[in-house]
Amino acid sequence: ESQRLRLPPWLKTSIPTGKNFSTLKEQLRKLNLHTVCEEARCPNIGECWGGGEHGTATATIMLLGDTCTRGCRFCSIKTSRTPPPPDLNEPINTATAIASWGLDYVVLTSVDRDDLPDGGSNHFAETVREIKRQNSNILVECLVPDFAAKSGLDVYAHNIETVEALTPFVRDRRAKYRQSLAMLKGAKSFNADLITKSSIMLGLGETDEEVEQTLKDLRENGVDCVTLGQYMQPTKRHLKVVEYVTPAKYQHWEKVGNDMGFLYVASGPLVRSSYKAGEFFIASILK
Ligand code: SF4
Ligand code: SF4
Repeated sequence: ESQRLRLPPWLKTSIPTGKNFSTLKEQLRKLNLHTVCEEARCPNIGECWGGGEHGTATATIMLLGDTCTRGCRFCSIKTSRTPPPPDLNEPINTATAIASWGLDYVVLTSVDRDDLPDGGSNHFAETVREIKRQNSNILVECLVPDFAAKSGLDVYAHNIETVEALTPFVRDRRAKYRQSLAMLKGAKSFNADLITKSSIMLGLGETDEEVEQTLKDLRENGVDCVTLGQYMQPTKRHLKVVEYVTPAKYQHWEKVGNDMGFLYVASGPLVRSSYKAGEFFIASILK
């Protein structure tokens, strides 16, 4: 068995903390809400929660509990065939919390709920409606598992995660590369004003040709925005990192993506699908 790769210097970051984080954290616990930002100990939390040049703060909220009915080989979320039923108060609690934080851009995401007849899509739609009812200025992105777009959201995100050849090894066997493309295309045809978005992890052994083809496939299916970032092995039981892709290579993909006509491309070792999503969204409309 091969040795684990050494962490290159560009991935060594410290996790920022501060008063805001503890206050937010407390509120989250009280309302029984979870953010991916915290649970994944995301190194971008300072930048995202703080907002950037445009002052657009972003956070990612997890809906539908912390237990997934699938098991992707890159993901550290708990899994079970029979997770507890969704919290019916979650849509209103989420909206209330978001309105009180003064966030400008929120990403709603969830585990896969193959146990629910609609996969949880009504729960998402209700949350979006409630957020917009409390503050119609908040931009809402839904980063969804396998289900179609419903009305009310601004950005529809579904992650292709990896190139076609690696999909069966990386994602749950029920997830299909072509199906993900079809869902993204479907969201666009459901509502042409909807911004669509996807994300690719690098460092799983994909070739440059395959990455380029994936970008092309996304673009051909009407995807507007794409993010590329380094895959990090969450525990020893998960897929090994095959390569730490260099910052220069990420810059290359950013250029390739821009040349293909994406509205924006966020590409860098620490970039996650929701990385500064609000900032990029505003910057792309101002372009
Ligand atoms: Fe993780 Fe999503 Fe895969 Fe579930 S479907 S295991 S939450 S990546
Ligand atoms: Fe949260 Fe996503 Fe930003 Fe990480 S990249 S802090 S998960 S919004």
